[in-house]
Amino acid sequence: MTRTDRTEALTRLYAWLDAEVARRGWTCRACGECCHFARHGHELFCSALEAAYLFGDDASGEMTDPSVCPFLENERCTRRDRRTLSCRIYHCSASGGDEMSALSEEALSRLKRLHERLGLPWRYASLWRHHERRKVLLSQE
Ligand code: SF4
Ligand code: SF4
Repeated sequence: MTRTDRTEALTRLYAWLDAEVARRGWTCRACGECCHFARHGHELFCSALEAAYLFGDDASGEMTDPSVCPFLENERCTRRDRRTLSCRIYHCSASGGDEMSALSEEALSRLKRLHERLGLPWRYASLWRHHERRKVLLSQE
């Protein structure tokens, strides 16, 4: 399977998830607050496929501080189309965490099945760990 096929499969999953979120009426002011991980009291985790898609091939995304997303500029996400499953699910406006947890579980299980189908390693880890791993791989090229 080519990289384009992998990207298409992942974007189809993201489109399904965006529709599920829209159906629930969750809204986001795009204030960027939750992209300050430490300040907001959480960490962004994603799979190997998601990290590869998010970071892409260009030189942006240099991460010097694990407490904030490197794709946040002037409190705006500069990778909105490529943002991860967790970025898409988390909504501070969602009432009660149960529905968000249930959707997260369903989305993660679909993502895991996608990895299996594509024969890709899962490597679910923090964005910081993905970044550090990528740095090592790039230095070996
Ligand atoms: S989910 Fe909430 S905190 Fe995060 S960007 Fe949207 S409005 Fe801001
Ligand atoms: S990818 Fe975008 S939405 Fe996700 S944490 Fe980074 S800046 Fe925020």
